[in-house]
Amino acid sequence: LSARLQGFGTTIFAEMSALAVATGAVNLGQGFPDYPGPDEVLDVARAAIGTGHDQYPPGPGIPELRLAIADHVQHFRGLGYDPDTEVLVTAGATEALAAALIALLEPGDEVVLFEPMYDSYAAGVAMAGGVLRPVPLRPPAGDDGPWSFDPDEVRAAVTPRTKLLLLNTPHNPTGKVFTAEELGQLAALAMEHELLVLTDEVYEHLVFSGAEHRSIATLPGMRERTIVVSSAGKTFNTTGWKIGWICAPAELVTAVRTAKQFLTYVSGGPFQPAIAAGLRLPDEYFTGIARDLEYRRDVLVQGLREAGLPVISPEATYFATVDVRPVQPDGDGLAFCRSLPERAGVVGVPTVVFYDPAHAHLGRHLVRFAFCKRDEVLGVAVKRLREMA
Ligand code: PMP
Ligand code: GLN
Repeated sequence: LSARLQGFGTTIFAEMSALAVATGAVNLGQGFPDYPGPDEVLDVARAAIGTGHDQYPPGPGIPELRLAIADHVQHFRGLGYDPDTEVLVTAGATEALAAALIALLEPGDEVVLFEPMYDSYAAGVAMAGGVLRPVPLRPPAGDDGPWSFDPDEVRAAVTPRTKLLLLNTPHNPTGKVFTAEELGQLAALAMEHELLVLTDEVYEHLVFSGAEHRSIATLPGMRERTIVVSSAGKTFNTTGWKIGWICAPAELVTAVRTAKQFLTYVSGGPFQPAIAAGLRLPDEYFTGIARDLEYRRDVLVQGLREAGLPVISPEATYFATVDVRPVQPDGDGLAFCRSLPERAGVVGVPTVVFYDPAHAHLGRHLVRFAFCKRDEVLGVAVKRLREMA
């Protein structure tokens, strides 16, 4: 393994999903729904196989999908992108992020981002030869407040080598939705220091009552320096299809495409028209998935609380965060997760893996549980955790 990738090992999601399969535990670890996506989307994919979508699609993605993405972003964010020059279809958000980092960073360039952070960010920055400058999000004092950051800490993390601000809202693993005020502070910093902004918005539609998703690209002066990343996986329950995309000014899209064409070139032929159809579903579909997931959040959060576990209830995404100290006196969330399949027949993901090793103490006692699961699965998980406590 190259020096760049030392320490990355196997992703925690693979480790924990394998543990769930091996032990027969309920898997609330890896974030994927265990219920299917809408028939309107699945049917188009089925019909696309053998009918002209089985060979390489065009490098930037099929025109129909690029147009649907542009229309979708216009409709939901009020942002206009040219489907021919400012939209690029990728192999999931993961490739979009990696290709953007590889395309935009010089060796030694610094990336400011918040931690806990989604696991592919550190690896993507490392593959691009960049340097991470993580700034902590602080958990709320009570159970229900939002996670927050100190704007002075973000400011202090920016140096003359900083090239890029990497944002994620709604945020994995905390479930935080960045507010207009917070995005304004970050936008001001990006403009002052002429930073590019890479914003991962894969949970854009999975936002619960009281919160509202905004893209930093919509703030004055930001569209021109921002690459918006999203993905169909979370919106259409198709995480295995790996259809993602970026929207950005043409010059940035051209740069990302240069890297992307040598990573996968293209992917997901029959899935591209299906996601184009999905993006054109009526608004009620998108509000419906948020409402459905909010109900699942409430089931899990309430169940965990009844089990005596303090829970930070998320404003969005698939994930709730638990403080394990009442049931794991040494406060070691990783040890808790490794023993949980045997102890209770449940799998979760230790939040500590989303931190830079230097700041691991901040997330040591926290564990992430996914609630994008069927009622009976959530019910069994909650019952088992209650019996454990
Ligand atoms: N970003 C975040 C914040 C995620 O949680 C995930 C995975 N669920 C991804 C990116 C990767 O998305 P994709 O599966 O489309 O590659
Ligand atoms: N994004 C999903 C999660 O956070 C997992 C994706 C993966 O396994 N790479 O759980």
